[in-house]
Formats: sequence, structure tokens, C-alpha cells
Amino acid sequence: MVYDFHIHTSLSDGDISPMEMVRRAMVNGYSAVALTDHAAAGDLPRIIGEIIQTCAMARAHWKILAIPGIELTYVPAAAIAATAKKAKELGARVVVVHGETIVEPVEKGTNLAALNSPHVDILAHPGLLTPEEARLAAEKGVFLEISARKGHSLTNGLVAKLAQKAGARMLVNSDAHTDSDLLTEGLASAVIHGTGLDDPTCLSVLQANPEILLKKLT
Ligand SMILES: [Zn+2]
Ligand SMILES: [Zn+2]
Repeated sequence: MVYDFHIHTSLSDGDISPMEMVRRAMVNGYSAVALTDHAAAGDLPRIIGEIIQTCAMARAHWKILAIPGIELTYVPAAAIAATAKKAKELGARVVVVHGETIVEPVEKGTNLAALNSPHVDILAHPGLLTPEEARLAAEKGVFLEISARKGHSLTNGLVAKLAQKAGARMLVNSDAHTDSDLLTEGLASAVIHGTGLDDPTCLSVLQANPEILLKKLT
């Protein structure tokens, strides 16, 4: 079973159409996929609207749970709460926030704003996560991402260590921008084991945690 809650398509900076990305995910063995293109302000309604229609059509005709989502990207920290709320009102089921990765100039305070919003489900690539942020993720039930993406994955070890200590739930996501970035069972397993977490914890990150998120969404 492969789950992935962070994928980009040609609706933002990915290079494959949303429908083709869902099809390719299904062929890769995915049982659930969330399309989460980058958006910040005026682009929210258009992108969420197109993703909702794509996912509905895919779910109706193919054996894959395609979930409409969004990745709030470079939203000013002070505007994250209101924008996440708006994204949910527009029909996004999964709201991902583009966290403070060490390879991009994301505004400081983005992680905390995401973790404090009841409408945010996943904090993606949180970068140099702090113990306080990990505790907040555990308390608020926000999933912390272990990233398969080049660059963002540089801090996976720190994120995993602090998340486990705080009792925060983790998810492995591809952050795919093209079909060759998609996960396979083997790649997802290698990415989580690469953090040094023990086998039972890795298994729960790969199987139990996605199921917990899916239950929350349905
Ligand atoms: Zn991107
Ligand atoms: Zn992303």
C-alpha cells in the first residue's frame, strides 16, 4: 500500500496534468493520493476547483482514492490561519503548509502558524524543526512530513528524532513534481528507514498514520 499526500501537477509547477498524475500514481501501486498544488492567495479558488473535479472523476472510474488538497506556499505567516480556513471552505480536504525547509527562504514563523491552525493537516518539510514545534504538532494532531524530495529531505533525521520524542505523527510524502518522483513501496520504506527510526515506528509511519489521516478526512 502506498499513500502520498503531497503532489504537484501542471496546475502549479509540476509537469504532468492532474489527471495523468493520478493515473500514474495508481499504476505505481498507490491506494490514495492527494493533489496539493502550490497556491497562496487569488489562485486558491481556481486551483482547488480544478483539483476537486479531477479527483472526483478519478475516484468514480479508477481504483484509487484521489483526494483534493492544496499546499499553501509562501503565504505570509500571519495570513496562514485565514488562508487555511478559506482553502477548507473551498473544498480542499487536505491542507498542507510549505514549511521552513533549509533550501528556500520561507518566512520564519511559518511552521508555528501552520501548527496553530486547526485547518492545517500536514506541515511539509519543516526544516530545522524545534522541540517546541514538535510538541505542538503532537498536541494539535498536525502530521509532520518526512520528505522524499531532494533538498527538503536534508533535515529528515532531525524531524524524525524530534517527532518521535514528542509523540507527533509523521508521514512520508514524495512532493513529486513529475512522474519519476512518485513513491513506490520500496522508496517510501527506504526514506523512512533512512531517518534511523526503529522498524515498528517506520511501519506505523508508512501504514497506520496514513490510515489515521484518511479517517480524519472522511
Ligand atoms: Zn513546487
Ligand atoms: Zn510541495
